[in-house]
Amino acid sequence: MTDIDRLQEMIDKSGKIVFFGGAGVSTESGIPDFRSEGGLYRQHYKYPPETMLSHSFFESHTEEFFEFYRDKMLCLTAQPNEAHKKLAELERAGKLTAVVTQNIDGLHQKAGSKNVFELHGSVHRNYCLRCHKRYPAEFILNGRGIPTCSCGGVIKPDVVLYEENLDQRTIAGAVKAIEKADMLIVGGTSLSVYPAAGLVNYYTGSRLVLINRSPTPLDGNADLVIGGSIGQTLARIHL
Ligand code: NAD
Repeated sequence: MTDIDRLQEMIDKSGKIVFFGGAGVSTESGIPDFRSEGGLYRQHYKYPPETMLSHSFFESHTEEFFEFYRDKMLCLTAQPNEAHKKLAELERAGKLTAVVTQNIDGLHQKAGSKNVFELHGSVHRNYCLRCHKRYPAEFILNGRGIPTCSCGGVIKPDVVLYEENLDQRTIAGAVKAIEKADMLIVGGTSLSVYPAAGLVNYYTGSRLVLINRSPTPLDGNADLVIGGSIGQTLARIHL
């Protein structure tokens, strides 16, 4: 029996699947992750990416923050790949209850997924820090320098920067879904960004599957580990 056969069998037996993913889910859509070969951590900038994506950098170097953010984090033309599409299909078929993602790109929703917990927020929500007026991502992308509201306030993307807390309601919803799941598929994540990565520990069932190009700290606990492309793997699953 191949690993794909085993994955198919587990999916066939499950009715409350939860998918937990990260930046690796969107690399096949052309968005670089952080820690792969071509990832943002291997590129050279004046400051490390963790610094540029931190709350204190946003406050102290706002213009440079937006330069990096526009250049590297806002990929508005990216389209969902086979992984996003199959997960949306599984939800439509009533087999998958939630997607929990560390991604901020909105591609799961673009593929049709409805119940998505965005642990780190979304580039598609932006708001004025002074009057809270909301702005679309295009407003940030098409502007120059620091995006400014009609009231004069700075517009901030609703993404969780380093040093910022995760939204408690989003965490609570994700934990509930993972606790109730009868299968947890973890994919495209190095599981190294906390507290997000810790949420997978709420799964206590016997169908824990990892689909990732490189090893993760959870491999030893998994019932099935597939070391390859998440898009190509999920594309081979039939409903
Ligand atoms: P990461 O960069 O730390 O790890 C990505 C993992 O995915 C690696 O282990 C890599 O081997 C694997 N991977 C890459 N492409 C893959 C593929 N096609 N198939 C299977 N595996 C693949 O990403 P992370 O764990 O999500 O953590 C970093 C942070 O990155 C998150 O907090 C997230 O908010 C942020 N981020 C998001 C985006 C996005 O929204 N698309 C992009 C870059 C970074």
